Amino acid sequence: MSESIQNFIGGKWIPAHSGETFLTYNPATEAAIAPAPKSAAVDVEAAVKAAKSAYKSWRLTPAPRRGEILYRVAHLLTERKEELSRLMTQEMGKILAETRGDVQEAIDMAYYMGGEGRRLLGYTAPVEMPNKFGMAMRDSVGVIGLITPWNFPIAVPSWKILPALIAGNTIVFKPSEDTPATSAAFVKVFEDAGLPAGVLNLVTGAGDAGAALANHRDVRVISFTGSTDTGLKVYAQAASLGKKVALEMGGKNAIIVLDDANLDLAVEAITWSAYGTTGQRCTATSRLIVQRGIKPKLIEALVAKAKTLKVGDGLQGDTNVGPLVNAKARDKVEKYVEIGKAEGAKLLVGGQRADLDRGYFYSPTLFSDVSRNMRIAREEIFGPVLSAIEVASLEEAVEVNNESAYGLSSSIFTENVNAAFRAIRDLTTGIVYINHGTTGAEIQFPFGGTRGTGNGMREAGLAGMDSFTEWKSVYVDYSGRLQRAQIDTDSILGST
Ligand code: ADP
Repeated sequence: MSESIQNFIGGKWIPAHSGETFLTYNPATEAAIAPAPKSAAVDVEAAVKAAKSAYKSWRLTPAPRRGEILYRVAHLLTERKEELSRLMTQEMGKILAETRGDVQEAIDMAYYMGGEGRRLLGYTAPVEMPNKFGMAMRDSVGVIGLITPWNFPIAVPSWKILPALIAGNTIVFKPSEDTPATSAAFVKVFEDAGLPAGVLNLVTGAGDAGAALANHRDVRVISFTGSTDTGLKVYAQAASLGKKVALEMGGKNAIIVLDDANLDLAVEAITWSAYGTTGQRCTATSRLIVQRGIKPKLIEALVAKAKTLKVGDGLQGDTNVGPLVNAKARDKVEKYVEIGKAEGAKLLVGGQRADLDRGYFYSPTLFSDVSRNMRIAREEIFGPVLSAIEVASLEEAVEVNNESAYGLSSSIFTENVNAAFRAIRDLTTGIVYINHGTTGAEIQFPFGGTRGTGNGMREAGLAGMDSFTEWKSVYVDYSGRLQRAQIDTDSILGST
């Protein structure tokens, strides 16, 4: 077991006010990782106070200077990439290649947002009067509350922390109770990069600490990624206090394969999108919408491929599929496999725990003969379970994709350019891939989903700045006198 983890409040590493801790366990070995502070409302209060006080000078620090700190964050993350990746694999289970990718997303975002320090573009536009100037600029908001999940314990917080910081906000970060060690190691990078005390505060703990953040009057924005049930609760709490809320919740993503698809390409993409990260990505593929003609060959190849995947500890170089994050997650997968069988879907491969002494492992699973209205075709399972639904045409495939309660990512495999462009036009998800799996978003484009996946906000890209900034419109009258026409215009328009 490693050293204990602490909260980071006002530039100091400290225990929870109560002194209480909780333990997390390596999902591959079930060994304890380290005790972490079991924070409560009083700890959140201290963190918000520190963030509020640090905001006074951080908002006035020129954005290019803030950007320099973000560049140092990028350098330190690069230096510590291996160490952070190994810690993450031990704490939440995904294989090393994937945890390295997770850290890389934060590196990319740190460079991208560091550069925003010299842009943060607003705009000017002509105004109605002579000797008058108008512009719109982005302004910081204040204290931001971040509530994040365990499946991307560095990447997801980085999509929130880095844009929030470059815009001049200060932060209270409440990570998942499954990944306190990785979160603390990530926050340490900001401390070592020279971020002033109180600008980024870490409070570890469970849902009650998150709820205290969502309920705090001095927190003006809540950015949440996690389950739909929790997200909607957070939304309701925060909305009752008039906060801006950005939500990133569930997914039930599909890959469509048309008869003319490149079979080998589709098999690779489906396998990694469905079983990579043990199916625990919000963009993971959990529905395969396959056209009748190619179905027999595709299913046969997918079953063969699934049987070659090595399930095991993510620290071992030859492992393809790591464990589920905890016993609860595995129970949920087991429950859904039973539901699938009871609903009459045909289990072709997997459907059982992997044969290992310890850990929360589950074999890659494929169901065929799944109909659109079965629960395994509609509900988020968040595990290595893929459900194949047969369709007759592109139109039917799009309809099946779009009827999901969620709308994060979708993909189509076809060699027909007309079909591809129709799919781009008609698929109603926030992310669309052509001849590529449903995972692998890049930080320079907006990330987020339609329908039940979110509330219309986006992360990453320039759109990601919208959560963490307010627009300020500025009018400068340099005529030195009251301009008569303005009064007339105002009275005509009935303006206030
Ligand atoms: P997951 O299934 O990913 O664990 P959750 O939605 O339960 O998803 O958790 C996502 C984040 O939300 C975690 O940081 C968790 O502690 C936090 N959380 C859980 N319940 C609440 C709540 N009632 N209010 C605020 N945050 C919460």
